[in-house]
Amino acid sequence: ANFAELGLISPLLARLTELEYQQPTPIQAQAIPSVLAGRDLIAGANTGSGKTATFALPLLQQLYQTKATENKNAKGNYVSGLVLVPTRELAKQVADSIKSYATHFNGAIKTVAVFGGVSANTQMLALRGGTDILVATPGRLLDLISSNAIKLDRVKTLVLDEADRMLSLGFTEELSSLLALLPKNKQTLLFSATFPEQVKTLTQELLNDPVELQL
Ligand code: AMP
Repeated sequence: ANFAELGLISPLLARLTELEYQQPTPIQAQAIPSVLAGRDLIAGANTGSGKTATFALPLLQQLYQTKATENKNAKGNYVSGLVLVPTRELAKQVADSIKSYATHFNGAIKTVAVFGGVSANTQMLALRGGTDILVATPGRLLDLISSNAIKLDRVKTLVLDEADRMLSLGFTEELSSLLALLPKNKQTLLFSATFPEQVKTLTQELLNDPVELQL
């Protein structure tokens, strides 16, 4: 299959052509149609599999399409697509990829990255008026929620990237605090290189009739 056959729209297809992505990786080919259809997903995927595009492309497309039909008065510090990652490096990298894929949306979709180790002030300013997509490490996100810089109660899609690393880095408590703040009715996509007991428990609690892919 090519990217168009997976159901992606032309502003994304044009960007993929520019990036010289000739064809979807196996995980992209198998996951993107299901994610576009609104299904939950569990994917066993390593770095290099093309997992970032697997969640970023459908997430961008869904938000772009709903934004076109929504009335624009939903202001406030809300986020629609939340991507949780274990490290600051990954947060920056994932946000850069999402922004790059969104090039031909001409600014319609706002993406912000927040992570620890730097001042929260700039991040709070960036979150003013909310954001369509937020890429975050758990600890800093909780701090920003405490400061009322962002609210999670309108999240439509949750992505957990490198879930195993997130749990092994000791984010278990932060993660459960965050998950408790999310609406029950949402789409959840979970990516993990390995599936230890902790990750399995998390998937059972969090995912609803998921598509499961092991690449
Ligand atoms: P990831 O597994 O998300 O870390 O992606 C690994 C690398 O593969 C990144 O540099 C992507 O830009 C690149 N990539 C992802 N999907 C494709 C594709 N379908 N064709 C070519 N390169 C890709």
